[in-house]
Amino acid sequence: MVERAHTIAEEVLFPAALEVDARGAIPGSHFDLLAAQGFYGLMGRPEHGGLGVDFPSLLNILETLSGGCLTTAFTWYQHHSVVRGLTGTANADLREKYLGAAIRGELRGGVSLAGAIPQPPRLWATATNSGWLLSGEAPFVTGWGIVDMLQVSARNTALQAGEPTGTIVTGLIDAEAGAGIAVEELHMIAAQGSNTVRLRFENYVVPAERVTAEVSHRDFLANQWLGSRRNGCLAMGVAGRCIRMIGEAGRGEIAELLRAEHGVIRERLDGGLGDPETMPAARAAASELAYRCAGALVVAVGSSGILARQHAQRLVREATFTLVAAGRPEIKDNLLGAFGRVHE
Ligand SMILES: Cc1cc2nc3c(=O)[nH]c(=O)nc-3n(C[C@H](O)[C@H](O)[C@H](O)COP(=O)(O)OP(=O)(O)OC[C@H]3O[C@@H](n4cnc5c(N)ncnc54)[C@H](O)[C@@H]3O)c2cc1C
Repeated sequence: MVERAHTIAEEVLFPAALEVDARGAIPGSHFDLLAAQGFYGLMGRPEHGGLGVDFPSLLNILETLSGGCLTTAFTWYQHHSVVRGLTGTANADLREKYLGAAIRGELRGGVSLAGAIPQPPRLWATATNSGWLLSGEAPFVTGWGIVDMLQVSARNTALQAGEPTGTIVTGLIDAEAGAGIAVEELHMIAAQGSNTVRLRFENYVVPAERVTAEVSHRDFLANQWLGSRRNGCLAMGVAGRCIRMIGEAGRGEIAELLRAEHGVIRERLDGGLGDPETMPAARAAASELAYRCAGALVVAVGSSGILARQHAQRLVREATFTLVAAGRPEIKDNLLGAFGRVHE
């Protein structure tokens, strides 16, 4: 799968990346190819028809595809939350109904964490006799019009002894506007083709049959650092592409220096897996490197780098995207610390 990812990134994604960026749309054939080659089932278990690739291979694939076309890789990447949710759910009927199709990429998914990560939460779930009512908003949801389903997490409004229970309710909803759900398009400077939108929920009905989990907030957040390692690949992919193009622009010595730093930051990200406290700084370093490498690429190719149909300006905007997408307060602090450093 790692080799396949390299081939797809070089032969399909990268050649189309400027067009995807300019049109603000990803060809459906990109996702069909990824599905046909098994990439929607990377994180599915073999007993469910998935590939169950090991974690280092997953990271390699994600970084490689991000270096091909960040917009495509980011949009496709959201799907794995749905596969993980369906794999781990105690709701056997739901798993039976959707997991196989999700692993085959016949059913494609996105995710909304706005009820789980932000403090205070943006999205709330109120229990009814037959399920939950969602109210609030999800300010950034990727894949609208591309995905079939969204895995949505919302904070339980219930009180126990006067205190919020604080549980996080997660369910699968159809990615369609309709009763109780309103959609606002967003206009972004990068990855517009990811079709990222703002959703507003008002008493949106999630039947109990669609719920994948209800867990404590603490349990929900337990593996956040794994997510940071995975989405660090977006920045590393952008940085890697820039470094390669700096070399191709005849500035091999700078490319070598940056490549060495790229390797060191990858080691720091991997180190964060065993030492989660260090992950936010490593994740921030990856985005800072991507941003710096993209700047260096513009300088290396010269003024033509800011022309609309050049990769350099696209990569600057995509590096900017990695500064905030999937950010967390600790990553933000580390990035601001790095950008705010005063040179003597
Ligand atoms: C292009 C793009 C696409 C995105 N797609 C998705 C998506 O598909 N699903 C999704 O859940 N999120 C998505 N996000 C949201 C993104 O992950 C959060 O915005 C980011 O993690 C932190 O938010 P911030 O940079 O606004 O944080 P800050 O301005 O630093 O802080 C604002 C608050 O937002 C909180 N926050 C963290 N995560 C989220 C979140 N997911 N939604 C709302 N607020 C959050 C932060 O903890 C913080 O409290 C997307 C963001 C971008 C830029």
